[in-house]
Amino acid sequence: MPKALKVAGEVDSWCTKCRLVLNHRIVSMKVGKAYQVECLTCRATHLWRPTAPGDKPAASGGGERATRSSTAPRSTRVTPAMRHEQSWEKAIAGRGVNEFKSYNTGGSFQEGDLLRHKKFGDGVVTRVIDLHKVEVLFRDEAKTLAQGMA
Ligand SMILES: [Zn+2]
Repeated sequence: MPKALKVAGEVDSWCTKCRLVLNHRIVSMKVGKAYQVECLTCRATHLWRPTAPGDKPAASGGGERATRSSTAPRSTRVTPAMRHEQSWEKAIAGRGVNEFKSYNTGGSFQEGDLLRHKKFGDGVVTRVIDLHKVEVLFRDEAKTLAQGMA
């Protein structure tokens, strides 16, 4: 049965110093949950953390989102941005400086060509859209660039 939480009340929390889930006193609260807590064992004050680091947060009743501390270790999830950068790195890795053509709108590029753009940096042509447009993968994002302009 969850007790009603209040400042100066007690709550179980992971202690960052004792490295154990121990009894803590609530120092401050945020949105109905303990925020800062004081360890009754070592007297350290720190942010409330209901479970040991690495544990999945216990599902607390009411379907509220668990308070997430900005210092909590983040799971190593591959984001689309990371995937993007990985494919960019794969295309660029190990290529010689001489393999990059400097980009200008008058150039003519083919899929797989490496180019160097003044603003966007090194990129690889991933698709020729038509005679005047190519899709180029740069480190930050893919861009459509002009080609074959007189
Ligand atoms: Zn402690």
